[in-house]
Amino acid sequence: MSYEKLTPPSDGETITVSRSGKLQVPDRPIIPMIDGDGIGPDISRASRRVIDAAVEKYFGGQKKIVWFQVFAGAAAIAKYNDVLPKDTLDAIKNHIVALKGPLTTPVGGGIRSLNVTLRQELDLYACVRPVRYFRGVGSPVKKPQLMDIVIYRENTEDVYAGIEWEKGTPEAQKIIQFLKTQMGVGKNLRDDAGIGIKPMSETGTKRLMRHAIRYAIKHKRTSITLVHKGNIMKYTEGAFRQWGYELAREEFGGVTVTEEEVFKNHGGTPPKGKIVIKDRIADSMFQQILLRPDEYDILATPNLNGDYLSDASAATVGGLGMAPGANMGDAYALFEATHGSAPKYADLDKVNPGSLLLSGVMMLEYMGWTKPAKAIVKGIQGAIKSKRVTYDLARQMKGATEVKTSEFAEEIVRHLP
Ligand code: NAD
Repeated sequence: MSYEKLTPPSDGETITVSRSGKLQVPDRPIIPMIDGDGIGPDISRASRRVIDAAVEKYFGGQKKIVWFQVFAGAAAIAKYNDVLPKDTLDAIKNHIVALKGPLTTPVGGGIRSLNVTLRQELDLYACVRPVRYFRGVGSPVKKPQLMDIVIYRENTEDVYAGIEWEKGTPEAQKIIQFLKTQMGVGKNLRDDAGIGIKPMSETGTKRLMRHAIRYAIKHKRTSITLVHKGNIMKYTEGAFRQWGYELAREEFGGVTVTEEEVFKNHGGTPPKGKIVIKDRIADSMFQQILLRPDEYDILATPNLNGDYLSDASAATVGGLGMAPGANMGDAYALFEATHGSAPKYADLDKVNPGSLLLSGVMMLEYMGWTKPAKAIVKGIQGAIKSKRVTYDLARQMKGATEVKTSEFAEEIVRHLP
């Protein structure tokens, strides 16, 4: 693989995927990393410091991540005069797994979000966001420790497909006329309406559900809830629900059971080792994450429902500063902070690296390096317990000392078991 302006590190090897789809991770895997805009460089430096320390501690130099700096956003404009150069996409495609800081999305001007472009270019169809509580972090709810869910959000369809026409344009007019005259619907559609299309397919839904069930099996999760608005939108959201159940029955019938069957055939107690498939209407799900979060495990959602639910769930455990995420396809996986680039804090060594670092933990788990992954989680727990934390955590904790991003990373390293 040749690049225009990148030279891959010579002391590492490339992750590959076997014919059966299994990830083959060498001892010195090359991992492309996009530091990102704004606070990105600060949190990327801190995250690499902790990940390297945990890997070194567990593998004693036998295994090591070889970081490969690649560019997107402002840094890419400076180097390539292009926000998302081909070099960057090629590097991620070639190395399969990558880590990414936040990127600033230019507002207006017809430029699509870089994050959306990356997801579409690499066909990263599942956005995976675990939400769990770290003891000691301030929370707006009484029992934040009950929250331990993973949101599995479809990434390529629904409103994210971005098929829209602006009010008053010939295209919007054409669609409105087409609907009224050819399709016999929308007689009350106003001429000054903007138009958006919400496609949701059987293919898109079933591959998301397949990914979610495989994740549930690997991580010993006990239920998957399909979250939809099928009572209102029958052929998109309602179909999402139906296709989700179908996929579970057709491809994973031996390891799944529906909630209905649990009550009908098993006296209300799920058979041991089976993953319960259930569904909830989206608005009710927002109540459930506040009132009974412990009854939920994985939530499989269309794009928009998942977008809202991710932030709302993260808020109950203390906010986005500690919420990790991954965008995954059949093999490619891009692990990324869930918050944005917070430009006002850029280069102040101030913000919390937790979101990106925990995304790094998900990456280590995906690579099968589970021991350093677990150690980092314990290190974070220890650092929070010591109350030497970044400003966002400090202001929610009694008696805490505010430390810089880099100092918080050192605190986590000190607490690695
Ligand atoms: P933001 O997440 O960047 O910041 C909002 C506020 O959250 C900040 O002012 C800060 O108070 C807090 N915050 C964010 N990250 C933090 C951290 N690590 N530690 C402590 N506090 C933190 O959201 P925004 O201001 O709406 O967006 C800024 C830019 O980021 C926009 O261009 C937006 O499009 C982009 N964005 C990118 C991503 C991504 O790359 N995945 C996600 C969301 C937003």
